[in-house]
Amino acid sequence: MTSASLKNDFNQDLLQFIAASPTPFHATDEMARRLSEAGFERLYESDHWQLEVGGRYFVTRNDSSILAFVHAGEAFAETGIRMVGAHTDSPCLKVKPQADIKSAGYHQLGVEVYGGALLNTWFDRDLSIAGRVTYKDASSEPCSCLVDFKAPVAVVPSLAIHLDREANRNRSINPQQDIVPVLMLAESGDDTSGFAQLLAEQLKQHGSGTAAIAAGDILDFELCLYDTQAPALVGVKREFIASARLDNLLSCYVGLQALLAADGNQHRLLVCNDHEEVGSASACGAKGPMLDQFLQRLLPDVSERMRTLDRSIMISADNAHGIHPNFTAKHDAQHGPVLNAGPVIKVNANQRYATNSETSGMFRLLCQEAGVAVQSFVSRSDMECGSTIGPITSAEVGVRTIDIGVPTFAMHSIRELAGSDDAFALKHVLELFYCRPLRLGQSV
Ligand code: ZN
Repeated sequence: MTSASLKNDFNQDLLQFIAASPTPFHATDEMARRLSEAGFERLYESDHWQLEVGGRYFVTRNDSSILAFVHAGEAFAETGIRMVGAHTDSPCLKVKPQADIKSAGYHQLGVEVYGGALLNTWFDRDLSIAGRVTYKDASSEPCSCLVDFKAPVAVVPSLAIHLDREANRNRSINPQQDIVPVLMLAESGDDTSGFAQLLAEQLKQHGSGTAAIAAGDILDFELCLYDTQAPALVGVKREFIASARLDNLLSCYVGLQALLAADGNQHRLLVCNDHEEVGSASACGAKGPMLDQFLQRLLPDVSERMRTLDRSIMISADNAHGIHPNFTAKHDAQHGPVLNAGPVIKVNANQRYATNSETSGMFRLLCQEAGVAVQSFVSRSDMECGSTIGPITSAEVGVRTIDIGVPTFAMHSIRELAGSDDAFALKHVLELFYCRPLRLGQSV
C-alpha cells in the first residue's frame, strides 16, 4: 500500500469515527467498541482490579470519558508512562428538561448552549438529536442507554433579510429567543406529540437497549442537537477535512489510532475527558480525579507513583488556530500555523498552555525522527489566549505536559475545517512517542 492510500484510509476512518460520535457518550462508546475489538479488556471502576503485566485495559466514567492503558511490563519508576490526552465534548445546543414549546403553530424544542458555540453556524442546518436517556427498567431500577435520532428532525431557520435589513452588518443572536429549533407543525388538540413521546419512539428504533421503553418510563435525558451533514474531504485536491466536532474528536481518533498501532516496552495511556468546553470541572472532566485515581490504583505506593510521574510525560492534543487568509491580523505575524504544514506546538507565557522547553523540545525531536514538519502558535500579545486540558491535567496530576494540535479553521463552528495531511502526520508522531525510549527526569 502506498502512503497516499494509507493516509486516505486513515482519513476515511476518521470521518466514520466522527460520524459515529455525535455526542461525548457516543464518542466514548465508539472508542470502547474499537478498543474491545482490538483486544483491550474493559474494567469497571466499581470492581476490584488485578492489572497484569502485558495487559491492555480501558475504563469509562459517566459514559462520556474514557481511559485506555497498556501495561508494558517494565518497571514503572524507570520508564514512566507515556500519556496522550484529548477531550470528547464539543460546543452544541443541549435540550432543556421541559423541552416542549409551542409557538405560532409550531412545535419547538427548548435548548441551552453548551460551551462556546459559534451560534450563527447553527442556522439552516439539517439537525438531528442524540445523547443519553435514563429510564425506569422492568425491575423499577434506573437504567441508561444511548439514542440517536439519525434523521434530520429539527432546524433553526434564519430570519429572512427582508425582515432584518441590518442582518449582514450587525445581527446578534439571543440564545434564549433566536435559536429555538423547530421540530414540526403542532397539531391542535394533539397531546401525544410531545417530545417524551417522540423520544420513546426513537428509543424503540435507534436506542442501544433492547427493551421497548414507554414515554412514561423515561426519567431524564442529556441530549444534544447535531448536524446530519456527513463529514467530508473537500477542496480542489481534497486537501481539507470538513466536519463537526473536529475539536476535539480528531485528536481522540489520532490518539486512539496511535495507541492501537504502538508496540514496545513503554507503558502507554490515552485519556479522553468530557466537559473541556465548559471548564473541565466535573467527576469525569480533566479537573476531576479520573486520571489521578487510575494512577493511584495502578501504583498504590506513593513513592513509586511519584517516581513514575517524574519519568512520565503527557501530550495534550487539542486543535490549534490556523492562520485565516481573511483575518491574518488576528495572529502574531511570526506564529501563523498553516493547514497541512504539520502539528502545532501551543505556547503561552501565562500557562494557558502547559508547554515548556523540555516538553516542546521532546516533541520537536519526535517530529524530526518521524519526518513530520512542526509549527508553533502563540496568541497575539494583545489578545486573550484559549486553553485546554493540558495545563489542567498537569496541575492535577503533576505530570510534565505539552499542548499540541493540528491547525484548524472555524473552531467551534458546526462545521470546522482541518488539513487532510495533519491528522495522519500527528498519528505517526504519537505512535513514535508511545514506542520510543526517552530519558526523562534526569536533567544535568
Ligand atoms: Zn478543544
